[in-house]
Amino acid sequence: MKVNLKRLTETLIKLVRIPSPPGKENQIAETVAGKLGELGLKPHVDEYFNVKAELGLKGKTIVLNAHLDHVPPRENWSFNPYEGRLEGSRVYGVGASDNKSGVAAMLEIAELLSRAEGSLRGRVVFLFTSREETSLGKEEARRKAFQGLKADGGICLDTHLLDEGGKANLVVGCRGIMNLTLTVLGRAYHSSEPEKGVNSIYTSMSYIQALRKLKLPRSKRKPPSHANLSVTKIATNGWATRIPDKCTLTINYRALPEENLEKVRSRLLKLASKKCREGFKLESVEKAEGYRLNLKEPIVKASLKALKELGLKARPTISRGWIDAASFKLKAGIPMVGLGTPTKGQAHVPDEWEDLQCLETGAQAALTATLRFLEG
Ligand SMILES: [Zn+2]
Repeated sequence: MKVNLKRLTETLIKLVRIPSPPGKENQIAETVAGKLGELGLKPHVDEYFNVKAELGLKGKTIVLNAHLDHVPPRENWSFNPYEGRLEGSRVYGVGASDNKSGVAAMLEIAELLSRAEGSLRGRVVFLFTSREETSLGKEEARRKAFQGLKADGGICLDTHLLDEGGKANLVVGCRGIMNLTLTVLGRAYHSSEPEKGVNSIYTSMSYIQALRKLKLPRSKRKPPSHANLSVTKIATNGWATRIPDKCTLTINYRALPEENLEKVRSRLLKLASKKCREGFKLESVEKAEGYRLNLKEPIVKASLKALKELGLKARPTISRGWIDAASFKLKAGIPMVGLGTPTKGQAHVPDEWEDLQCLETGAQAALTATLRFLEG
């Protein structure tokens, strides 16, 4: 069974022309559901604009996932982000790569499988999700999407497949993520006598230096992974002639797939209590756990088989960024790989584009892996 690049490209262009920032996926959800309906499926759109449909018979089940929303474009684009222009081997536009390419691929797979439904050896659930690019209302949207969802394995089409050196990137896990907002306290005083105050910026500096010296864990398991920490934001309640008594830091932590985020949080706070003598306040914590699949999982094996069949050299990896496949695994108990259409380096950038070879190969790989999984 082969994907049709011309049809895939046309679908992608059509999708790029529909604006769908997080929370405003109504129109694209309608378009996707309309297409699935034409194919004879019975799509369901929920109040969060998640779209769900299925094909095939009872039995072994696989779920395919891509997200409908895109990061809202900022003013740094050199053309209309919703233009959906085809030039050479690229389709330009916001979300073209992340993740409308995945949505287009899923529609192509639905079209091909709907014609061969009688010979399908199980069931395929198509789940198009909303609010992937935001934390606002994401949990509720996921809870709804996962309601009654049962599957033996899954493929998330939101990771790039084609990588440098001709390798095919098969994602078998991702790192966790945590954002911590910490206010370091000082003591305000007139800046003509700074020694009588405590400058919260200086205190923050020593805390940041200590953070940078922290030894972060590396995982010895395969595929390899390591943790990262960055201070990504800094703000004070400053006034030119006053010693600032509050300095707020945002710390972004990328955890090992198996790392306990609660322990990381205590570690960072313990260090703060050592360095911040005038005190500190934890303002907020946002976190999402990572995950790691066993390489013997049937969905991993089926994907490896499919990639080999397509003449691709598979390289199992842990995604450095957090991906929604982690929610499927942790909240719905579905082991999911990342095997998709996006072009490497094109997510969340101005003048985003999708390479047609990535689109075609990613769609074909997801389709073949789906078939091999159901047969296995
Ligand atoms: Zn994405």
